[in-house]
Amino acid sequence: MERTRAEALDATDPVARFRERFVFDEPAETIYLDGNSLGRMPRDGLDRLRGSIDEWAERLVGGWDGWLDLPRQVGDRLGGVALGAAAGQMLVCDSTTVNLFKLASAALDALSPAGAKAIVTDAGNFPTDRYVLEGLAASRRLVLRMIEADEVEGPTVDDVERACAGADVALLVLSHVGYRSAAVADLRAITASVGMSAGVPVLWDLSHSVGALPVELDRDGVQLAVGCTYKYVNGGPGAPAFLYVRNELQDRLRTPIQGWFGQHDQFAMHRAYDPERDVRRFLAGTPPILQLAAVAGAVDVLDAIGLDRIRAKNIALTELAVQLSDEWLAPLGFQLVSPRDPKRRGSHVCLRHPNAEAITDELAARQQVIADFRGPDRIRLGLAAPYTRFVDVYDGLERLRNLLT
Ligand SMILES: *Cc1c(COP(=O)(O)O)cnc(C)c1O
Repeated sequence: MERTRAEALDATDPVARFRERFVFDEPAETIYLDGNSLGRMPRDGLDRLRGSIDEWAERLVGGWDGWLDLPRQVGDRLGGVALGAAAGQMLVCDSTTVNLFKLASAALDALSPAGAKAIVTDAGNFPTDRYVLEGLAASRRLVLRMIEADEVEGPTVDDVERACAGADVALLVLSHVGYRSAAVADLRAITASVGMSAGVPVLWDLSHSVGALPVELDRDGVQLAVGCTYKYVNGGPGAPAFLYVRNELQDRLRTPIQGWFGQHDQFAMHRAYDPERDVRRFLAGTPPILQLAAVAGAVDVLDAIGLDRIRAKNIALTELAVQLSDEWLAPLGFQLVSPRDPKRRGSHVCLRHPNAEAITDELAARQQVIADFRGPDRIRLGLAAPYTRFVDVYDGLERLRNLLT
């Protein structure tokens, strides 16, 4: 394949003009294909962050008038732009890990069928998800049951139904997009069959889908979801995560972390714990205002581009990566370990090679291409539509080929 092909794709790309809304301060020869542990810095996020810093300097504690409601405001905005969530069901707060713990605990307390004794997840799920669930299972004398799915294609509806067939399932937790394979789970069908028909609470982790593909939480009947904002949302290192609790469930669920930000009438401080009537009951303590501002700016960029255009472009980007990998890298011993069907693939591509770790290191050191190593033997390339060009994919994979040859 000639480079002109990638150049032509860039020339007609309707998303290309949004690239200038991001900061490019790294050395010019760098190609950033991180996949996507940390999205690039958006100028809008930086501007909002600077605005918050000024507010801090000028208003001091008086700033809280405007800051207090930010977890809900930014949550509503992210939910509306990227997740198909009507207002009043989202918060941006805490980390994904903590939010997962809060919602999983709450679901086990209030939504699990009587006598259920298993938490079910996918053996390929992200480590923190497995660890949190392992801890919850141990403390509640439940078992943690792992779905053994195909590691490239991810858990199918059949795999999930089989794992949940015993009618003993207390909670199902799945990632929408696999962090290694990029496999997209059938969120709608699994929610309908396990969640609605079988009555098992289902909690989705959207960390690798939010900002990369349109998600329709309200329409698809999702009960509970969490995810992070520093990957394809570009909220910055340590940006707070989000949680979604469907309207109808909010008054039945109690957070296991009874903090004062979740208290009804928070500043009437003499009162005993009495949770907020709505999703705010899942707030815990003081929110990180500077990072919330950065997330708000980052969401403006996603809104300007639109999730449909982002998805169309990341399909084209990963298709190009798959074709180049077939042509150049397969003969060098690389194996594609992401789904070939672009509709079943998120915004990254994973390649397996026995020397993946050394190759990822050398690729950065000698060829200035930033990718991720994911053990034991994978290289993960993230292709973020808002700022990755088709020539970046071409050049990045060409450098990978050159390194190997
Ligand atoms: C990135 C990621 C996380 C990260 O959790 P933190 O609490 O933000 O560190 C969790 N789950 C999944 C599926 C992820 O991809």
